[in-house]
Order: sequence, then C-alpha cells, then structure tokens
Amino acid sequence: MTTLSAQPTVETLKMLIGGRWVDAQDGRRADSINPFTGKVWATAPFAGVEDVDAAVRAARSAFEGPWGSMTGADRVKLLLRFADLLEAHAEELAVIESTDNGKLIREMGAQMKALPGYYRYFAGYADKIHGETIPTEKPNFFTYTTREPLGVVGAILPWNSPLLLLTWKLAPALAAGCTVVAKAADQTPASILKFGALFAEAGFPPGVFNVVTGDGPTTGAALVGNPGVDRICFTGSNATGIQVMKNAADNITRVTLELGGKSPNIVFADADLDAVTNGVLAGIFAATGQTCVAGSRLLVQSEIYDQLAGRLVERAKDIRLGDPLDPASEMGPVAFRAQLDKILEYVRIGQSEGAVLATGGQRPTAPELGNGLFVSPTIFTGVDNAMRIAQEEIFGPVLCMIPFETEEDAVQIANATPFGLGAGVWTLNVQRAHRMARALRAGTVWVNAYRTLSWAAPFGGFKGSGIGRELGLESLHEFTETKSVWIETSGASQDPFRMG
Ligand code: NAD
Repeated sequence: MTTLSAQPTVETLKMLIGGRWVDAQDGRRADSINPFTGKVWATAPFAGVEDVDAAVRAARSAFEGPWGSMTGADRVKLLLRFADLLEAHAEELAVIESTDNGKLIREMGAQMKALPGYYRYFAGYADKIHGETIPTEKPNFFTYTTREPLGVVGAILPWNSPLLLLTWKLAPALAAGCTVVAKAADQTPASILKFGALFAEAGFPPGVFNVVTGDGPTTGAALVGNPGVDRICFTGSNATGIQVMKNAADNITRVTLELGGKSPNIVFADADLDAVTNGVLAGIFAATGQTCVAGSRLLVQSEIYDQLAGRLVERAKDIRLGDPLDPASEMGPVAFRAQLDKILEYVRIGQSEGAVLATGGQRPTAPELGNGLFVSPTIFTGVDNAMRIAQEEIFGPVLCMIPFETEEDAVQIANATPFGLGAGVWTLNVQRAHRMARALRAGTVWVNAYRTLSWAAPFGGFKGSGIGRELGLESLHEFTETKSVWIETSGASQDPFRMG
C-alpha cells in the first residue's frame, strides 16, 4: 500500500496530471510554511497556463475515453474502493493537513475520518442517475430525459479545510461521471497531492483526477479561463468569487460558488446557557475562527447579555493554545502571516469603532508558543451591527456580541449583512424555533446546535454567500446536464413551416 507519511525534512512535491507526477514545465516552485514552526516544510510546483491546459486535456481525454465508457456500477466499485483506501490513510492525511494549515489535529483528524463517508454516500447514487419519461400533450411523440455527466470540473480550493472542501466537489462529480482538475490553495498544496496518490491504487483511469498547484492570479485564473472546463466549483473569499464568476462568463462556464459568511448565532433568554456556551465556543473559537460558517456575530437577548458575556470571557481566557499536532491543544495558530495581520487590524478597527474589547485581541507571549501565528481568543462586547467588525468577514477567533430586545429585532439584525451562509438559534420554545428557522435568510440554520454538517444535507449560501449547493442529492445534479429526447412514433411527415 502507498505510504503518504509527512516527512520531517522539506518535501519536494509534484503535481498529478494524467496519472503522472510532474513538475511545472518552467520548473517554478513555491514554498509551503508550517504556521506553528514558521518554517518551510514542503515545496510544490507553480503551475503556469500550459500546465493547467495539460491537466484539463488529460481530464478531457479520460472523460471521452476509459472513464466515459464505464457504467455507473463500475463507478460505484471504484468509489467504494477509494473510500476504503482513504480510511486506511486518514491519520496520515490529518497530520499533513495540520502541518500545512496549522489547524488542530483534533479537527483535521475528525474531518479525515469523515471523508470516506462522503465517497460512500455518493457511490450509492452513481448507478441511480437517470432521467424520466415525460407525458407531453403531443400524442405522436415518446419523450424522455437523460441525465448525462457534465464533463470536466475545475475545483478551486481554500486553505482552511482542503480535503474536506475538495471532497464536497469531487465525490458527487465522480459519482456523476465527470473528471476533475483540482487547484489547491497557495498555502496548502501538500494534502491534496498526497491524496492524489490513492487514485491509481483504487483503480481509477489516469486523468480522472488531476491536481495543479500555484497561486490564484496565474494558476487559478488559467483554470477558470480554460475553455475545456465545463464547471468551476469554487470555495473561497467573496472578492475572488466575483472575479471567478466574471472570468467564467467569457466561456459560459458554469459556476458553483461557496463564499464567505458573517453568521449570526442568536441566543434567547429561555435558552440552556450551558449548551449555549459550548455552542458559541464551537462556533467561533474551534478552528481558530477560520471556518466559513463561524458564528462570528453573537446576538444575545438583553436580559441575559451581561451574564453570558461574563461566562464566555471566562471560558475564552481558559482556552488552551498550543501545537496543533498536540491532541490536548484547543486552539492552534492562524494559517499564515497575512491572515494574522488582518485579524489584528480588525481588532484595532473594532476598538476605533467604539466596541469594548472584553478579552484577547493580541498575540499571546507564552514561550511555548514560539514563532506560532497565534491570536488570543477575542471577544468584543457592545457591538452595533452596523460596525465593520459586524459586517465584514474576519476569518479569525473574534466574536462580536450584539444585544437585541425582541424576536423581530433578532431577525432584522441577523439578516442585515450581505451574507447568508449559516445561522444558529438557541431557544427552548419550539414555536419560536420554527418561526426563526423560517425567517432567517441563510443556507443552513441550526437550532440548539452549531456547526453540524452531513454529506446528505445540502450546504451553500443565500445572498452574497454563494451560488448553488454542495452535498446531498441536490449537488449531484450540478454535475449533470439534462437532455430531452423526442421520438416521433406515427411516421407522419411534418409541416416544415410550422413549429411541431
Ligand atoms: P481566496 O479567495 O483567497 O482563495 C481561494 C482559492 O482561489 C485559492 O486556491 C486561490 O489561489 C484561488 N484564487 C485566487 N485568485 C483567483 C483568481 N483570480 N482566479 C481563480 N482562482 C483564484 O480564499 P481563501 O483565503 O483561501 O479562503 C478563505 C475564504 O474561503 C473565506 O472567505 C471563507 O469564508 C471562504 N470559505 C467558504 C466556504 C464555504 O463553503 N462557503 C468554506 C471554506 C471557506
């Protein structure tokens, strides 16, 4: 069996194109830095336009060749075999991801353990993709639809959960019969390349899954602009998503966009405050706040505002920062320097806007944290929803506490951002829970829970948080085209000057 283990010395990684491990044609490379040690731990090729084109051509020829001629039942077998291999390598892949992006081994370990389930779930659909017979108003026609695989998919990924967010695209795309070119985030090339080694072992034909590495403006843009790509599935920031959509328009390339959020976590006075405290921590400090569904705006009914603020500040001060590879650590560093600077700049903005910095807001100085890019868990109280810290995605461990009086106020404040990705509601009143679930403009609403996902439940954004859905049956259809077929059954000839 292939060994994927992370090496202690700097690794020289290669890209996967057409089943071969290759360098960029011009030999360029880029470093990947371990955010805990601050040291380069791997280097990856920097793909130019010609490398991306080679990957798209490899994906196209697999689509039109051996992969395209397989049946759904063949794809089921391959996906299930691949899921077993992933399961066997889950721990190694978790270590590689933590080393690349600094997220806790607890978090990445759980994500990697869950990955095989996604492939098994979509394997279950791979031999059940079919159209319908359509009874039309025209008696002399037999009409039916087929659902055909869309073609070549370009998957553009962020650094925060590379393999999980790749899987959300890859598992349904493969189940539907598409081929994929993945573009790893600039900061996290390693896990996706290592993961690529498992495809040949599972028995997939070369070119079904390809990986290119490099930056956004060169490598990512080359993928979006390549006319051989049928759909771009993008997860990342809003600014890049807008660019991707504009560039994809030139070739009428379809887009799925999973973008940012400023999700409200809404606490009513009747809620169970122990459960709320854990839910709020999970929403904003787990993953060091570097998650698109971070519950970064905490809306709290005014009668319990001070009490909950006191509890959260106390718990936040106790969060154990440390080496992401140490299972006892509760919060790791942020993933790279620019992200750290951005978070600290938002702390300054919050203070200048008049919010109260109740805890955190600086780089901790404990010697055991060394050169790690840490920010202490940060809570702002007295936040007004119009402030920039309440409107803009910080993507770090910064919680903004906003008071509200009534249910109507809560809905109005919650919906008053350009985003609509997730929302949490904490109440023991079942009628209110249903009213809130209906009123919130968000792709996912959790009641008395936060940050729970499943391969079976569609995920995506309302408003500025994106276009389309990943996961669930709904996502599978994004990787197919529907064809209507009309069969004339009477033998009559048609009037050429009249639409039939
Ligand atoms: P980013 O937009 O900076 O980069 C994402 C990817 O796009 C990278 O691979 C990058 O190289 C590439 N890219 C950059 N410019 C490009 C261009 N012009 N053309 C094509 N590709 C280009 O995002 P990030 O900082 O890596 O990730 C963080 C963001 O991702 C946050 O906003 C977060 O909310 C969002 N996110 C969303 C979800 C979701 O499912 N909705 C999940 C995770 C992260």
